[in-house]
Amino acid sequence: MLYDLSIVWLRRDLRLEDNSALFRACRGSHRVAVMFNFDTSILCKLKSKSDQRVTFIYDTIVELDQQLRKFGSGLIVTTGDPVVEVPRIAKKLKANAVYFNEDYEPSAKARDTKVRSRLELAGVKCLEFKDHVIFAHTEICKPDGSPYKMYTPYKNSWLKRLGTLQFEAQTFENEKLVSWVEITNRVSKTVSSKTSPIPPMPTLENLGFERSKNFHVTKPGRKAASLNLKRWAEHLGTYHTTRDFPEVDHGTSGLSVHLRFGTISIRECVRLATRKPSLGSQVWLSELIWRDFYQMILDQFPHVAHGSFKKQYDKIKWLGSGKNFKLWSEGRTGFPIVDAGMRQLNQTGWMHNRLRMVTASFLVKDLLVDWRKGERYFSERLLDFDLAANNGGWQWCASTGCDSQPYFRIFNPVLQSQRFDPECKFIKRWLPELRSLSAKEIHLLPLQIPKPTIAGFRLGRNYPKPIVSHSVQKLLAVKMYDGSPRVFLD
Ligand SMILES: Cc1cc2nc3c(=O)[nH]c(=O)nc-3n(C[C@H](O)[C@H](O)[C@H](O)COP(=O)(O)OP(=O)(O)OC[C@H]3O[C@@H](n4cnc5c(N)ncnc54)[C@H](O)[C@@H]3O)c2cc1C
Repeated sequence: MLYDLSIVWLRRDLRLEDNSALFRACRGSHRVAVMFNFDTSILCKLKSKSDQRVTFIYDTIVELDQQLRKFGSGLIVTTGDPVVEVPRIAKKLKANAVYFNEDYEPSAKARDTKVRSRLELAGVKCLEFKDHVIFAHTEICKPDGSPYKMYTPYKNSWLKRLGTLQFEAQTFENEKLVSWVEITNRVSKTVSSKTSPIPPMPTLENLGFERSKNFHVTKPGRKAASLNLKRWAEHLGTYHTTRDFPEVDHGTSGLSVHLRFGTISIRECVRLATRKPSLGSQVWLSELIWRDFYQMILDQFPHVAHGSFKKQYDKIKWLGSGKNFKLWSEGRTGFPIVDAGMRQLNQTGWMHNRLRMVTASFLVKDLLVDWRKGERYFSERLLDFDLAANNGGWQWCASTGCDSQPYFRIFNPVLQSQRFDPECKFIKRWLPELRSLSAKEIHLLPLQIPKPTIAGFRLGRNYPKPIVSHSVQKLLAVKMYDGSPRVFLD
């Protein structure tokens, strides 16, 4: 039996191509309408009026609408509480079913439960699909059925299950898309002639935001995502050698924001990674598996959203100061590799993975600040912010997470800087005040041994003196975690 009319509710899957819910809706219905709701409960929490994530979503939505218009349809865009808006549109269109893709964040799951019960109460069927990950929660688990807590056995099991599995692109049937005329006709039968049946596309200003032009890593929208993936195919083969060096162009894919908002599907990425096997593609696939792993962890252990995966670490008495947290957030710690990373984040909304690790480790284990403060700071600024990956990354660095590094393993920021930005090209890009110094002098600044002869440069005047001593802080960090001395690994 086919539904007469179904709605596909887009959320973090902002594309028509290879979209599980849309694909299934087309198969299961005579007619399909597509909607998106700007969730005011999320928008009102954002601090910046020019939050680039809102611009990213907005531009992607406009592009989606244009794409649908080419098929004679259009995107139904509402603004408000989805618990109200989705059932309202379903009622107006007299839809029989609402299709959407699963979201594993605790707040999204709570929202979806409410939407589902409202729809079911109104006699509208609710159908949910896996789309955001390759394998969801219970698909990859230990032989006894419990979830994995360690990445490597999870990855092995994931790869085994992937086997030779082929992911055919899930193409939507454009002839099933409801024409805009039909949408308007259906709605006009249910409303008075004066009421606007389907609200027009809001402007960014209507939503209370301004345009952000801050897209350094990638542009919004499906077209940009596809282009990005195509370009990445040319660099993928050397990923294992380039991925750790922030100054290398195309050293990583830059696809995280597209994966976050679903302008690209995870299946498209896995297809690319498995098409032409190479060392680079294997290592890249492992990163995509980390993404699935952290989604599974958040889904199965939702307490991580508020506290440590290993609950004993919730007892830590953090010794760090608010003043040092502020200096860290502003990129003024006197540790060039840390400051360069933070300035990249503040100015572009993106940070290279190596630097996410270095800056996070520095905040927690050198400045002794609670990882949750850093996690929140990243969540407010990262264009690719994703609760599961961000939380997983922070807990890994803070040693509080599942399969995280041991707490006595403390990154040495000087060695990290020497190893991953040997010529200080990245540092000099983000810290112009250091351009007159040699790479060697820059690396050693945190040890306060720059040559006094450098023309016009004085530590403390041109660039901050280091706010802490790494060798002292790492001892304190270990004490803070448990008080016992350990061997230090850099
Ligand atoms: C403290 C910290 C916070 C982080 N916060 C986020 C976040 O909010 N959102 C986010 O997408 N990633 C986060 N990461 C993971 C990683 O830094 C980014 O995914 C990566 O830098 C994005 O760049 P890319 O797309 O070029 O990645 P690539 O190296 O090309 O990797 C491909 C894709 O794999 C996924 N991926 C890669 N590494 C990881 C990882 N360690 N964990 C989970 N997924 C991964 C991403 O989707 C990424 O786009 C965080 C890491 C750390 C250490």
